[in-house]
Amino acid sequence: MSRGGFPVVVAAPSGTGKTTVCRELVSRDAGLCFSVSHTTRRHRDGEVDGRDYHFVSQRDFQHLVDAEAFLEWAVYNGNRYGTSCQALETRLGEGLDVLLEIEVQGARQVRERRQDARLIFLLPPSSAALRARLTARGTDSAAEIDRRLEVARGELAAAPDFDYAVVNDDLQDCVSTLREILAAERSQQVRALRAACDPVEALARLHERDAATGGE
Ligand code: 5GP
Repeated sequence: MSRGGFPVVVAAPSGTGKTTVCRELVSRDAGLCFSVSHTTRRHRDGEVDGRDYHFVSQRDFQHLVDAEAFLEWAVYNGNRYGTSCQALETRLGEGLDVLLEIEVQGARQVRERRQDARLIFLLPPSSAALRARLTARGTDSAAEIDRRLEVARGELAAAPDFDYAVVNDDLQDCVSTLREILAAERSQQVRALRAACDPVEALARLHERDAATGGE
């Protein structure tokens, strides 16, 4: 008999490289699929409705909220994002584990509502690395980068609510660690990994590095 799948939540401060890590992880794991969220934000060039997001109007989103159709939902940058219960259940029922790439408010709601969810927090190697990544995108002004860094500091405070914290220093190393976590969770041999990826210790190491470099 095949096992039922479980939800895997991956959250991270903006600029940590979460999307790249998640795409690489899903592409290398046939037992893992993306949850496709609903959002009220406009679609960007190259995005496809139903694949990247379900793009819906404010009114339709509110209708879904009223109908309690979302496992979780949150407002981010003025837009609303949510994970539909039905889509999640369908994929879980197929025996797939389902990756929810979401922001931290939504992750906290999943923590409260789904005991079977595994929550993973991605950390940047340092504040300086985060600033460098946000700068390299070339999309934001210096003031906007400062604002995003301030938001990121607030988001870091959520790390202790997660089961695991993994530093995204090198993409392949990070994905390998996530694959080990999933393998262990699937086989229930999680104790050693939980100790190695303890969120409180990972956060303390990040703060130590920032203190040593003055955050630069
Ligand atoms: P973007 O607009 O850049 O695609 O996403 C903005 C933020 O919303 C990202 O942190 C992304 O992970 C998060 N997000 C995407 N889908 C959901 C969702 O269904 N729920 C929540 N809470 N956040 C989401």
